[in-house]
Amino acid sequence: TFVSFEGGDGVGKTTQIERLAARLREAGADVVVTREPGGTELGGEIRRLLLHSGHVAPRAEALLYAADRAHHVDTLIRPALERGAVVITDRYLDSSVAYQGAARALGAEEVRDLSLWATEGLLPDLTVLLDAEPGLAERRTADRGGKDRLEREPDSFRVALREQFLTLAQAEPERFAVIDADWPVDVVAAEVRAAVLTLLRS
Ligand code: C5P
Ligand code: MG
Repeated sequence: TFVSFEGGDGVGKTTQIERLAARLREAGADVVVTREPGGTELGGEIRRLLLHSGHVAPRAEALLYAADRAHHVDTLIRPALERGAVVITDRYLDSSVAYQGAARALGAEEVRDLSLWATEGLLPDLTVLLDAEPGLAERRTADRGGKDRLEREPDSFRVALREQFLTLAQAEPERFAVIDADWPVDVVAAEVRAAVLTLLRS
């Protein structure tokens, strides 16, 4: 079972993933938690390039994310799924479509196609979209020291990003669970759990 978490910076993806993984492990599941970019050793190098290189040409950026994802799927995600694990990833292809596609100059369709090529078409069984009002998420990223590159982006970027994530969810309602991440952590965690349990029982 393959679950991805998506949403802008500071919506609480990492926190919610930790909660969910702990619950599933208590219930005896084999759970693999990973992230993009940087879920593998090679991916860690790509992450470093992406986040600390200053300006990267938009197409080069899209290809680096695709390279990270291709290696991640081939060496980590698919093997884990094949042995029956629940794989939970902090970001996957929808982040590329939203960040490199819509919110930057590249087209959402092209970026999605690139990602599907990179992953040989692997899509999550469930994508949890944590949707938060941009101002709130922004305060959370500022609280943790603003390490994210989005600190350098204008407010309009966050707004475009959120809209694009919601558009993606509307286009594939059977894959997405959209959860309001402005609620307290425990409330959000309960909704995440409910969405995942529905999937695991289906
Ligand atoms: O989610 P995480 O904090 O690990 O993401 C690292 C940074 O990479 C974030 O600032 C995010 O905005 C950016 N990112 C991106 N395009 C992606 C995935 C992440 O610009 N496809
Ligand atoms: Mg995070």
